[in-house]
Amino acid sequence: MAQITENYELLGIGSLLILIGILSLSALPIGTLIGIFLIIWGVNLVKIYRCTSCGNRVESKNILVCPSCREKLGVS
Ligand SMILES: [Zn+2]
Repeated sequence: MAQITENYELLGIGSLLILIGILSLSALPIGTLIGIFLIIWGVNLVKIYRCTSCGNRVESKNILVCPSCREKLGVS
């Protein structure tokens, strides 16, 4: 049985959102709210899951069968 591994994709758009979020934190009060929102959103985008069998990305760790290689997935 294949497994799902947790990865962080730091070169994607998620990192950009976190960066913009941190920069807007200092712009009180609206910027702070937007900044926190962007950081949470960015962290969600940075965190990705991969199938250990084929290496392809899966949407979440709750997926039971890999959409690419049809292997059953178990959470490690
Ligand atoms: Zn797979």
